[in-house]
Parts: sequence; C-alpha cells; structure tokens
Amino acid sequence: MFGSSSAVEQSAVRYTIICKFMVDKRTYKDRATYLIKAVAKRRKSLKAQALDYKGGKCAICGYDKCSSALEFHHIDPKQKDFGIGEKGYTRSWEKVKHELDKCILICSNCHHEVHAGQVQLPSVTME
Ligand SMILES: [Zn+2]
Ligand SMILES: [Zn+2]
Repeated sequence: MFGSSSAVEQSAVRYTIICKFMVDKRTYKDRATYLIKAVAKRRKSLKAQALDYKGGKCAICGYDKCSSALEFHHIDPKQKDFGIGEKGYTRSWEKVKHELDKCILICSNCHHEVHAGQVQLPSVTME
C-alpha cells in the first residue's frame, strides 16, 4: 500500500514538474509582454535613455543586438571611461547626459580594438 502510494506520489511529482515547466513556458511570453508594457509606462531607465541618446548602436560597426554589449567610450583619452554600467545610473540624467556628450557608444569588441589602437574612432563624433 505504501509502495503503490509513493509510486503515485512520485509520478504526481514528475507530472507537476513537467506541467509547471510547460505553464512557465506558455506564460513567459505574456509575462514578457506585460513587463515590456510596464517598463514602457514607467520612465525609461537611464541606460535605455543613454543608449537612445547615443543612437542605440555601435558608432563604429553598427552593432545593436545586445544592449549590454554596448559601452561608452570617452573620446578624450585623458578622461576615464564612463562607468555607466554600475554607479553611473545612480546619477541624475543631466549629469549622465553631460558625460555622454564626451563619449561615443561602441560595442564591446570595438571598444577593445579602440583601446588596443587597432581601430580609429569615427571623426563624426568629434564635434
Ligand atoms: Zn574606452
Ligand atoms: Zn562595434
């Protein structure tokens, strides 16, 4: 009796896991849509604003697939690269914008190439 009951329980647990997984998968899209709407309703995040402000893509190669692979590079080499990923976003947008005016938006790959001296910055950004 115990044996059969635990077998039923086990299969019930298995079923629950599969079922839960499928439910999660199915509602993921709805949830994502909901989250996108919620975010759009609220004020844009500073990073999103910053990316928009700088054109939303790599100024060198045009990469725009993954926003977390996009970085801000200070045009003036004497200035430190803008640490917008972490503490940068706790600053006010005005301060961020002031910094952004001294930066270009480039992807991580191009950023490494720039620092390695393998690629020239586009002159368009030097206003
Ligand atoms: Zn840099
Ligand atoms: Zn790039």
